[in-house]
Amino acid sequence: MELKEHFSDKIFNLISETADELGLECYVVGGYVRDFFLKRPSKDIDVVVVGSGIEIAKALGKKLGKGANVSVFKNFGTAQVKYKELEVEFVGARKESYSHNSRKPIVEDGTLEDDQNRRDFTINAMAVCLNRERFGELVDPFNGMADLEDKIIRTPLNPDITFSDDPLRMMRCIRFATQLNFYIEDETFDALERNKERINIISKERIADELNKILLSPIPSKGFVDLDRCGLLQLIFPELCALQGVETRNGRAHKDNFYHTLEVVDNIAKVTDNLWLRWATLLHDIGKPKTKRWEPKAGWTFKNHNYIGEKMIPDIFRKMKLPMNEKMKYVQKLVGLHMRPIVIADEEVTDSAVRRLLFEAGDDIDDLMCLCEADITSKNEARKQRFLENFKLVRQKLKDLEEKDRIRNFQPPVDGEEIMRIFNLKPCREIGDLKSSIKDAILDGIIPNEHETAYKYMLEKAKEMGLEPINL
Ligand code: ATP
Repeated sequence: MELKEHFSDKIFNLISETADELGLECYVVGGYVRDFFLKRPSKDIDVVVVGSGIEIAKALGKKLGKGANVSVFKNFGTAQVKYKELEVEFVGARKESYSHNSRKPIVEDGTLEDDQNRRDFTINAMAVCLNRERFGELVDPFNGMADLEDKIIRTPLNPDITFSDDPLRMMRCIRFATQLNFYIEDETFDALERNKERINIISKERIADELNKILLSPIPSKGFVDLDRCGLLQLIFPELCALQGVETRNGRAHKDNFYHTLEVVDNIAKVTDNLWLRWATLLHDIGKPKTKRWEPKAGWTFKNHNYIGEKMIPDIFRKMKLPMNEKMKYVQKLVGLHMRPIVIADEEVTDSAVRRLLFEAGDDIDDLMCLCEADITSKNEARKQRFLENFKLVRQKLKDLEEKDRIRNFQPPVDGEEIMRIFNLKPCREIGDLKSSIKDAILDGIIPNEHETAYKYMLEKAKEMGLEPINL
């Protein structure tokens, strides 16, 4: 679709009319223009007004009538108009200057050119005029169109200044390159290396926000490799860097766990958009450096790296200002359990092992299986196939046993209350022991998951423990 045709949409025509009536120059700018050319649908429209953005927003709100919702942010000199599914943000054109220790600039009114100069990348600095006389005219002083076509991320001005002024732009640079699968132009990339230490003035929340976007990209490894190459990763996520490297002893080498992890993350990205499953994948081997040992017979081992990894996660989440809630617990659970299906698939796939796995993973079993399948990165095709075949078997068994035994959300068929009533007991250790023996018997397939059999089984166990029911 032609630029002019696209912008002839009702909302742009009304903005145009309003701007002309008020005698103000006005442009659609930034991400919306970029995404139009990339054919990425976007609902957030940024409009730069040479003059007051608030004035236009208010007048537009009146024209749109009831369906529109106008919010004014006086302190920022901006206003937002929500209309149907669209959000239009109006802001006066500005000129910015920065001080060394803050990414918050001193802002003054400016021209369109000033406003484009303060943008982060050439592809984000294009503007489309909305005034009637120049309607649909592209203002592209840094040749962002050519960079869009060549898939290049480049800063409009000197990248050292752009990045040092607002170091968040370094994260955005790598994030856009990853999301769009673009190449970071050499000068721009070199400036990332030179300015990396400036990242320290950026809040952890904003960094996490960009990391999430990298992780949600189609090929996340690209972003982590770029972060690593320019030295930012060491500063923002040293635990991930620690996975790097290969050591050889007596001719035996282990794999580079950093690149292995990235391969697994790319694999999981093909099957899910669940951000927290992607985080669990990124962290699944995070405990490996701490557990690495050389054992003359076995070679390199990483015993219990899943449990150590699980334990490391709260600290990592706290430091990176990621949510310390059920999302973190979910990530911990998957990291802790990620070796289990592999161990099962490596040996004989028994009912009892699968039942226990289902019991511990509960509703997260499908996500766990996806993680484990993604984790098979062996270059030995035969070995890879064997694992994948065995995983199919595990999945089939999970399905069969689930139908039969309903283990996923296991509720004990005889609960503590009932045991206390039968034996006239106050809360005590024996009740816990009886409950565990029922659970184990079900998980081991000794009895089915139903009340009557479990009740009988419990009476037998109680007898062995010297307990007598009161009302038999
Ligand atoms: P996305 O919605 O994927 O984050 P976007 O480009 O729309 O992409 P926004 O953060 O909404 O991102 O920013 C809108 C525009 O504002 C950008 O296209 C860019 O021109 C400008 N911009 C945003 N953040 C910065 C920044 N830190 N430095 C310079 N310009 C920025």
